[in-house]
Amino acid sequence: MRTSRILTRLLAASLCLTALAGPGLAETTPAKELFGGAKLPTRSQAAPIGSYAKGCMAGAVAIPTDGPTWQAMRLSRNRRWGNPQMIALLERFSQDAVNLGWGSGILIGDISQPRGGPMLFGHASHQVGLDADIWFTPKPAQALSPQQREDMPFTSMLDKSKFLTVHPGRWTNTHARVVMQAASYPQVERVFVNPAIKKKLCDTWQGDRSLLGKVRPVYGHDEHFHIRIHCPQGAPNCKPQAPVAKGDGCDKSLAWWFTKEPWAKPKKDPDAKPVKPRHVMLSDLPKACAAVLAAPARSMEDATFATNVTAYSAAAPSAPVQNIEAIINSAAVLPDLGPVPLPRPFP
Ligand SMILES: [Zn+2]
Repeated sequence: MRTSRILTRLLAASLCLTALAGPGLAETTPAKELFGGAKLPTRSQAAPIGSYAKGCMAGAVAIPTDGPTWQAMRLSRNRRWGNPQMIALLERFSQDAVNLGWGSGILIGDISQPRGGPMLFGHASHQVGLDADIWFTPKPAQALSPQQREDMPFTSMLDKSKFLTVHPGRWTNTHARVVMQAASYPQVERVFVNPAIKKKLCDTWQGDRSLLGKVRPVYGHDEHFHIRIHCPQGAPNCKPQAPVAKGDGCDKSLAWWFTKEPWAKPKKDPDAKPVKPRHVMLSDLPKACAAVLAAPARSMEDATFATNVTAYSAAAPSAPVQNIEAIINSAAVLPDLGPVPLPRPFP
């Protein structure tokens, strides 16, 4: 009798907990935990929803962990999911990189989570399946084991003993060609690299300078570069970003990175009340993202192999606008581009 009363109480308590956890879950749990916990994509049409840094993704496909000219890294993160156009581009790019002499292909870092959205660690963007990180280390001829893909350290392209300087022994012309190859596809909107790498390209790139404008300087990005593609056509819920400014970007916007301003510690107001950081919640994301979280899943096998991603290349032509190799080979005279002007505030 007593036991049954305890059981009844326990049952009531657990029902109460379930009720708390049920409808309230989305309101109390940070969005990064909800999306970080999704193991599989939705079984629906591919659609980026929202913006690169505030959104989610339906109908993602995964790049296979191994391809003829690529390997996906850090498999435990489960971030090799993207819009089919992104996956198609990566496959195409990996072949073009090999043709440029980039080892036996590319090592692919994070793309997005199975349903996109905010992540438990790393990355403000990568939320809609249109961003991908590529290592500045080529794929070795031998396939890396899953453990090696977890443990292999990143190699920085910078000489860390100096301020914002590319390591002369590590950075090669092939690195430059591979980055510019990525920038050359019409569907690529931006390629993010460290400011030191952008400056190196500004100082040395012999091809069309207009392509350089797509290569954007930003913190980090010294052991990998980041490829971002445009919103695909027919994706009304995808929020585009402002296009890059015309020109090569080897200007004030780059010189700023070589001032103290971007590296200075933020000034603290001693009178300011401490603000508790607020998590991004599901309600901060586009409304459709709640439906994306709740939608039925597609199997890993199906989402990796059943979609013919090359069909998506036809929708968005993946042929580069320029042949990087031909440009390099035909550039007989190196134009004197001069160094990037530094502004004054270096006391
Ligand atoms: Zn990235």
